[in-house]
Amino acid sequence: MSEPILKTLYSESYIAAQVRRLGEEISRDFHGEEVLLVGVLKGAFLFFADLVREVTVPTLIDFVRVASYGHGTESSGMVELRQDLEFSVQGRNLILVDDILDSGCSLRFLYHHLHNRNPRTLKTCVLLDKKSTRKEAFEADYVGITLDSGFVVGYGLDYQERYRTLKEIYLLQEVRDLPEKGLA
Ligand code: 5GP
Ligand code: MG
Repeated sequence: MSEPILKTLYSESYIAAQVRRLGEEISRDFHGEEVLLVGVLKGAFLFFADLVREVTVPTLIDFVRVASYGHGTESSGMVELRQDLEFSVQGRNLILVDDILDSGCSLRFLYHHLHNRNPRTLKTCVLLDKKSTRKEAFEADYVGITLDSGFVVGYGLDYQERYRTLKEIYLLQEVRDLPEKGLA
């Protein structure tokens, strides 16, 4: 396989502006309340770290980890929980924070998993929303950037565990075999 070519899609400053806006929206919606922000590992780790510092209401921080399986870039809808929250959810304002909404399978799975534990409110926040690849009817409450399709890397997102630490978001081009989904 040839070395993938990366094409810059979103600059550091553009990403930062969207993250700031999301932080403002969340802070406005939960004015006077406390929120439990839950990051979905691994892909959301940089977005999460930046977002939580833009939220001005009191926060609690926790993480979950999921794995989804499929062929190439297609999700089979099979999602497995690899690491659960430490906090109890009941009565809390929970916001699930993920890197990208693609087929919708992962967030839909997590949403129902957590909804069963009776949070006071349950919202979802994603940096990226790939509208055209959705398989499950699921929309996020807070969306940073909407894109059509394509496989993106950088700012937490990987291709075969590489490129997560890049500061910008890139479109991955000229890859013949796109990855099997593993740990998100
Ligand atoms: P889902 O298909 O369940 O909505 O998304 C599952 C996970 O697949 C995402 O959280 C993300 O980790 C990964 N994923 C989906 N689309 C992309 C993409 O374009 N690039 C990368 N690096 N990961 C993606
Ligand atoms: Mg992910």
